[in-house]
Amino acid sequence: MKSLWILLTATTLLSAFEYGLKPEKVNDKVYCFFGKPEVMNTKNNGNMANSCFVDLGQQWLVIDPGPTFAYAKEAWREITAIKKMPAALVINTHVHDDHWLGNGFYLSQGVDVLGASAFKEEVNPSAVTRMEQRVSKEAYAQTSPKLPTILLDQNSTLHIDEKEVRLIHVDTKAHTSGDILVYLPKMQTLFCGDVIFNDRVPSLRDGDINGWIATLEMIKAMAPTYVIGGHGNEVHSDGVDLTYSYLLQLRAHVREAIDNGEGIDRAVKTIKMAEFSSVGLYKEMHSRNVEAAYRMLEWADE
Ligand SMILES: [Zn+2]
Repeated sequence: MKSLWILLTATTLLSAFEYGLKPEKVNDKVYCFFGKPEVMNTKNNGNMANSCFVDLGQQWLVIDPGPTFAYAKEAWREITAIKKMPAALVINTHVHDDHWLGNGFYLSQGVDVLGASAFKEEVNPSAVTRMEQRVSKEAYAQTSPKLPTILLDQNSTLHIDEKEVRLIHVDTKAHTSGDILVYLPKMQTLFCGDVIFNDRVPSLRDGDINGWIATLEMIKAMAPTYVIGGHGNEVHSDGVDLTYSYLLQLRAHVREAIDNGEGIDRAVKTIKMAEFSSVGLYKEMHSRNVEAAYRMLEWADE
């Protein structure tokens, strides 16, 4: 009996983890939970990426369900307190696990999840996730890597509650090899996932600097009123600027270093781009981005 009580108490404690999430209203139809400009750790427990909800009329559209089962469940509780209605669909903007490990919560409710076909090639659902290694056990409880049930490898347009939802499958490698942008033309709102960071230095690790810049130029040409990234709480079109100017300058500096015959070690040491040094995660990301850009660009002219 005593052990049953201990077990029940432990289970209650595990399922009782709370992030303290509060939705922010972006416009009449869109709410987001904005993550902190940090890397995942046992303090933020993965609450460092954005998760957004669109009111389609009779149903919610979910853009990135967040980093854990507990996060997704709590965000859903908060959003349905605003308007009680079911979820139509969950969209995963890309394969990085801070954005989609909440899938399991929605799948357990019978809601479909859509993501790029890159999930098939790039995510091994039996591997231990970065998130599991870096956040607390309590926050990660009930989380397991659940892949999208619908895979997308080209543009597609959905009509849900008579609203048009355009899915743009970025056909070049940008932030990753499978980025999906979600555009709601009537609401003039574009969700860009991690093609846009506006409160921290972007991560080029799994991306391609040329494809990424080209994708940002496409977004700038679309110029919708609301542009929401995967990290950062800027919600207007100038939210593109930080990522765009950082990547443009990075490419120019690295190209120059290559043209001058500088080796990669020297480029990493000397390309500092001081105007970005006060942007979040500069110390953690910048020199790795120089290295990644160098490796991409040194082959570009071959
Ligand atoms: Zn990402």
